[in-house]
Amino acid sequence: MKHGKPRITHQREVILEELKSVRTHPSADELYDQVRQRLPRISLATVYRNLEFLTDQGLVQKIEVGGRQKRFDGNPEEHYHIRCLDCGKVDDVDLDRIQSLDKSISRTCGYKVIGHRLEFMGICPECSK
Ligand code: ZN
Ligand code: MN
Repeated sequence: MKHGKPRITHQREVILEELKSVRTHPSADELYDQVRQRLPRISLATVYRNLEFLTDQGLVQKIEVGGRQKRFDGNPEEHYHIRCLDCGKVDDVDLDRIQSLDKSISRTCGYKVIGHRLEFMGICPECSK
């Protein structure tokens, strides 16, 4: 299957490009619809597999918000997210990681804290209108 390899790499590149082109934190299904515009013959399973691979490589991240469907983020850096309780969209929060929080938690429970995940929720500006 030597000849199959470049195509797989190309698919992966397209998936990565498409994910990085949006700020919407799409689910695998949503990204699949988007990628299909460029690669009509790609399967959902292939998109899943490549998303897992890209996540393992640290090129993208998988985020879990609202405990529902996993979403993907083309920005692999640690950052906070906020979810609109009305329309369900997930936005980035432009705020530095709160380092002091790790220290407080460490003091409280005696753990050496490696990191944290925080999920914010609210009503987005569009839904507030
Ligand atoms: Zn909203
Ligand atoms: Mn994000």
